[in-house]
Amino acid sequence: MQTAYLSHPDCLRHDMGEGHPECPARLKAIEDKLIAFGIFPFLHHYEAPSVTREQLARVHSDALLDHLESISPSEDLVQIDEDTWMTPHTLAAAGRAAGSLVLATDLVMAGKAGNAFCCVRPPGHHASRDQSMGFCFFNNVAVGAAHALEHHGLERVAVIDFDAHHGNGTEDIFKDDPRVMLCSSFQQRIYPESIPGPGNDHMIFAPLPPRSGSGVFRDTVTRLFLPALNRFRPQIVFVSAGFDSHRADEMADLDLVEEDYAWITRELKQVAAVHSGRRLVSTLEGGYELQALGRSVAAHLKVLCDM
Ligand SMILES: [Zn+2]
Repeated sequence: MQTAYLSHPDCLRHDMGEGHPECPARLKAIEDKLIAFGIFPFLHHYEAPSVTREQLARVHSDALLDHLESISPSEDLVQIDEDTWMTPHTLAAAGRAAGSLVLATDLVMAGKAGNAFCCVRPPGHHASRDQSMGFCFFNNVAVGAAHALEHHGLERVAVIDFDAHHGNGTEDIFKDDPRVMLCSSFQQRIYPESIPGPGNDHMIFAPLPPRSGSGVFRDTVTRLFLPALNRFRPQIVFVSAGFDSHRADEMADLDLVEEDYAWITRELKQVAAVHSGRRLVSTLEGGYELQALGRSVAAHLKVLCDM
């Protein structure tokens, strides 16, 4: 099965300042490990296109899109929230990040790739319909899911989010849309400290206590997510792949290891094989300890490309 790998040099130009964990070096660290582990040549490389306003407007309000355009600086930084700054290069990077999900969706829908990984930043899953926050400007995975629904006419789309933080933006965008199932695991009571809605048959939340580790994580996915996904029968599977639950990452305390990411990737690939004609699109969310991030993405991609 061919795995498409999408990225763009613009994603390296968004830099929120020295010492910021969501830094350009994240993408370099991933690429270094993919090269070192011999995975890079197995991937089919694509440049991410820029997202269009129409594609963004499926998941974001005009007010947010107009606001971001109006405050985009020509020099210096503009603060969005406590930890998020807009730079002169942010809109271009965020546009490529969101655009990568559109192209990845088109590639797997056309059968030109079995699955795809979008190695892009800024991440997206905290961006809600009306607000950029938590390092996120546009909700990349939501742009992909909405493209699958609106452009390709699919009726059932799944998003699995295993980032350490609650994907509050993705919840906000799809909470009232039964065509989208969101399965989201995250560490309870850390950023964004939003309490997920009560959940329903298409919003499945698994807040995990600190030090959950591999056992609790895998048990939760097996007990909660996989049966829900098998009931839902998604026509395409999206993954908000955040790797900040790794034991080496200081952003959270969930104590996962590389093999957990390989494991959930195998499980989601199996869901896609049974229900979705193998169509699976994964995109980078968090993951800030550079060595662990590189190894974790390598573990994820090794499974995706059947190495
Ligand atoms: Zn995160």
